[in-house]
Amino acid sequence: MTQAILPGATLGVLGSGQLGRMFAIAARQLGYGIQVYSPEGYSPAGHVADREWSGEWNDFARLKEFARRVQVVTLEFENVPVEALRVLEEFAPVRPGPAVLEVAQNRLREKTALRTCGLPTADFVAVHSLDDLRTGLQSFGGLGILKTASWGYDGKGQRDVTATDDLQEVWSLFEGNEAILEQRVDFEFELSVIAARNPAGDIACYDPILNRHSHHILDVSIAGATEITPAMAAQAKEIAITVMNCLNVVGVLCVELFLTRDGQLLINEIAPRPHNSGHLTIDAHVTSQFEQQVRAICGLPLGSTELRQPAAMANLLGDLWPNKGNLDWAAALRQPGAKLHLYGKDIARPGRKMGHLTCIAKESLQAEVAVRQARDALQRSPRQQ
Ligand code: AMP
Repeated sequence: MTQAILPGATLGVLGSGQLGRMFAIAARQLGYGIQVYSPEGYSPAGHVADREWSGEWNDFARLKEFARRVQVVTLEFENVPVEALRVLEEFAPVRPGPAVLEVAQNRLREKTALRTCGLPTADFVAVHSLDDLRTGLQSFGGLGILKTASWGYDGKGQRDVTATDDLQEVWSLFEGNEAILEQRVDFEFELSVIAARNPAGDIACYDPILNRHSHHILDVSIAGATEITPAMAAQAKEIAITVMNCLNVVGVLCVELFLTRDGQLLINEIAPRPHNSGHLTIDAHVTSQFEQQVRAICGLPLGSTELRQPAAMANLLGDLWPNKGNLDWAAALRQPGAKLHLYGKDIARPGRKMGHLTCIAKESLQAEVAVRQARDALQRSPRQQ
């Protein structure tokens, strides 16, 4: 049996964005110390950590120094080079480990592994040439999504393609990088399941969260959504449990799914870390996804995933910020049940996740209306700085 890492110990996080920040806050509440490592400095997670290490992923000497000071290493960013994780593993357990990361870092490896686990995904083909793209597109009835195999997220490095497009031009944009062509799924809506697994193999799953995207970026997430039937929820959670066991994940992982128009659940992708769609667990569930990450990596009993009240979360992207101005925070907070989370980022750029709002209410629709109103209110009477 693995020994639990108890409060008072120091936890290490790779990556220093908002996910690391919210993890650090949860860890501190449980009485742990926190050190973060990333190539950045003065970061959202660094602001709330005991120590912020700025270092490159290939600075193995610095990574070793970091690993010597923590009892376990986790991550908030799945594109940490696997070699770095292997170096860290010599000094402290890395949860989730390099094998999981290796799968999640490449869409082709990921979809192949999921299929091997007997799980449903959209049809896909590997694309290494213009010919592969043409043939693949034909086999998908002329409609597909071309994505870079590695380093893609939030719709980055991907393009909708149709047979009538100038495929040569499309392929040239990918600069010869390995790519994956996926069948374009005609979906009713998108949902995600967040699951946690500890070293003993105990698993806790949240009920699926309904996700609405805008320009390929998550816009609004809803917990307790009535569109998700109990049978669908059970099936989605079963899929997540299979992923956790089959890939032997220790930590938190999010499974993003499509519900197709003919009622099938297909996995879009997995993220081996807390997920944007799970931010509402902080305010709406008995245990947040971040506390769950702490418990899972420390080998503690997992917390209850019970939903206290239906809730909706709206992302606050940099696009909302007026030029050199501020937003009307008081107006948003006037909305009953609204909770504001800001990530401490100085510069607001279009598409940059700056924070989020969560509203809880008696019904999910009410929560969604409320959170959209709260977000709209931010821009009603912006006070110039
Ligand atoms: P991803 O970066 O793969 O999570 O994609 C971002 C968003 O693009 C997804 O949440 C979907 O809204 C959309 N998308 C990605 N892949 C597909 C697909 N195969 N069919 C339809 N929509 C997709």
